[in-house]
Amino acid sequence: MSKIPPLERPFSASAAHAGGLLTINLGAIANNWRRMAALMGEKEAAGVVKANAYGLGADAVGRVLAAAGCRTFFVAVPEEGVALRRVVPGAVIYVLSGPIGGAEGLAPFFAANLRPILNSWEQVSLWRSHAPESAAYGLHLETGMNRLGIPQPEAYALASSLSPALVISHLACADIPNHPLIEEQRQAFSELRALYPTARASLANSAGVLLGRDVHFDLARPGIALYGGNPLPTQPNTLEQVLTLQLKVLQVRRVDSPQSVGYGATYQVQPGNWLATVAAGYADGLSRTLSSAGWGLLGGVRVPMAGRVSMDLITFDVTNAPRQAVYEGAVITLIGQEDASEGTQAHSLDDLAREAGTIPYEILTSLSHRYARRYVGGAS
Ligand SMILES: *Cc1c(COP(=O)(O)O)cnc(C)c1O
Repeated sequence: MSKIPPLERPFSASAAHAGGLLTINLGAIANNWRRMAALMGEKEAAGVVKANAYGLGADAVGRVLAAAGCRTFFVAVPEEGVALRRVVPGAVIYVLSGPIGGAEGLAPFFAANLRPILNSWEQVSLWRSHAPESAAYGLHLETGMNRLGIPQPEAYALASSLSPALVISHLACADIPNHPLIEEQRQAFSELRALYPTARASLANSAGVLLGRDVHFDLARPGIALYGGNPLPTQPNTLEQVLTLQLKVLQVRRVDSPQSVGYGATYQVQPGNWLATVAAGYADGLSRTLSSAGWGLLGGVRVPMAGRVSMDLITFDVTNAPRQAVYEGAVITLIGQEDASEGTQAHSLDDLAREAGTIPYEILTSLSHRYARRYVGGAS
């Protein structure tokens, strides 16, 4: 029978009624950040906690990273920075999108002591006409991503009149080792950062930290590595796994004649097969692309999804699971290990992302608000 790991905190009353239980190991997040910091040596590792810490909870994650020694944080939009400021009062917080919405968009930066990353000539002039001289900011320099950032000619033109605290750029192909664009961007960034000699420089995301010293510069911006996703999918994932996602079985049935399962009748079952339907679906971030492609764990064995993922339900073919593990109220583990014991097989975040045809980032940021959430391993 599958076991739910021991609780550090009791589930809230509503959690007993949730279709899915999400367990987030804050100790693993802290350890993954320490790994990044160790790889950076005497240089610094920041923590990227945008999009609610990739869906895992920016309050809890911000707190645990600060306790582990993280002093610099990156969020995407000002509102995220304002919320994070309450939990990390002493840290430096950079906002990657910079000010949004003209002069009025500057208010949160001053109110919460946030540093914008200025991404365009327009953002630079806005900041210069309203911000006090002493207010620190970063500058995003375009080197090949062509998403956000100040193009080279403007970076040269602005250099003599600006003194950013930080210059950044972003690697387009950091997760593809030996891609020629990595070296092109590194060179372009080295040249541009030299225009701003008093600024610290930041180029590497998680994959960049793993790529090595050449792209480390002064400050790294790891995100996905902290949350246990594999930054370099072509290599084994050596990070600690952070998540466990358990889905509750609503109904079990033994098939007694040849049948099909679910919308579109895409999956066939035979007499003697067993089916179990869980209380989560694509409305919970479990993409429809997982249909007949995803796996879970039940009673120590892998069980495949049977047919289409529906909005609120997924049916598994549990024929191979031990009979005593198949009952209403059991849980199918979709991410992580069924129990904490050594050597228990796991179905990782990376596995689920691959089966869904996406990346772990998207799985994380789509995690349902309907799941009950439990944090373990934190300093409290
Ligand atoms: C999201 C983001 C990161 C973090 O990237 P990971 O691949 O998750 O480590 C770093 N820098 C910028 C500019 C980002 O947008």
